[in-house]
Amino acid sequence: MASHPLIERARQQGRTLLTELESKQILHDLGIPTALGQLATSEEDTVRAADAIGYPVVLKIASPDIVHKSDVGGVQLHLQDGEAVRQAFRAMQQSVAARAPGARIDGIIVQPMAALGVEVIVGMSKDATFGPVLMFGLGGILVEVLKDVTFRIVPLSKRDAREMIHDIQGFPVLAGYRGAAPADLEALQHILLTLSAFVESTPEVKEIDLNPIYAYAQGALAVDARVVLEEVPVSA
Ligand code: ADP
Ligand code: MG
Repeated sequence: MASHPLIERARQQGRTLLTELESKQILHDLGIPTALGQLATSEEDTVRAADAIGYPVVLKIASPDIVHKSDVGGVQLHLQDGEAVRQAFRAMQQSVAARAPGARIDGIIVQPMAALGVEVIVGMSKDATFGPVLMFGLGGILVEVLKDVTFRIVPLSKRDAREMIHDIQGFPVLAGYRGAAPADLEALQHILLTLSAFVESTPEVKEIDLNPIYAYAQGALAVDARVVLEEVPVSA
């Protein structure tokens, strides 16, 4: 199976880190819901894109050299109007220039501000012994402090996907504790199974990081995405 054109393009350009926008476009094309957005390259362009998308919006720095956007002031949330977008645009330019000097900047990603859901993360990495492995966990402090995650080897069966989600200690948060509506577990399973199939058929992908995905009572949405390619071409 031919790789996604965005993977081919990155390879031809000698890049292994796909941008958030490229990563999300690939996921979108696989059928995984993402908060996509568009790339803007000037302040005017950014406001125009925000007007077209509708408020509130989020601005993010788009750079092939910046992996953790928040660390360099490269994420601005909850922007309610054009004026807020202008201010955020300028603040972001300044802080990125100061905190990531020399980084190549593609522009600014403008995307819709997603409704808050239960934060989960899904990742893929390659284990020396087992090959591609998928990870699932609750996002934020639960993953950082408690390392409450589960792993399964690719390819995943439906049962694997279901078990991964049920296995984490924080599962009650997804099941709907204290009267909260339960999260859409089917939607999360769908994401895991879709990624498993993608990884199986695309050996040139080295790493995937969806952090966070918002899980809702109905559906789930990837609000950040990162795909990393292998250095050396691998034949499928
Ligand atoms: P980083 O590269 O720092 O991981 P993210 O894209 O994950 O950047 O953004 C940082 C945080 O901002 C996310 O963890 C999430 O809480 C919030 N966020 C990012 N994008 C959106 C969005 N489109 N809607 C709502 N919240 C968002
Ligand atoms: Mg993130």
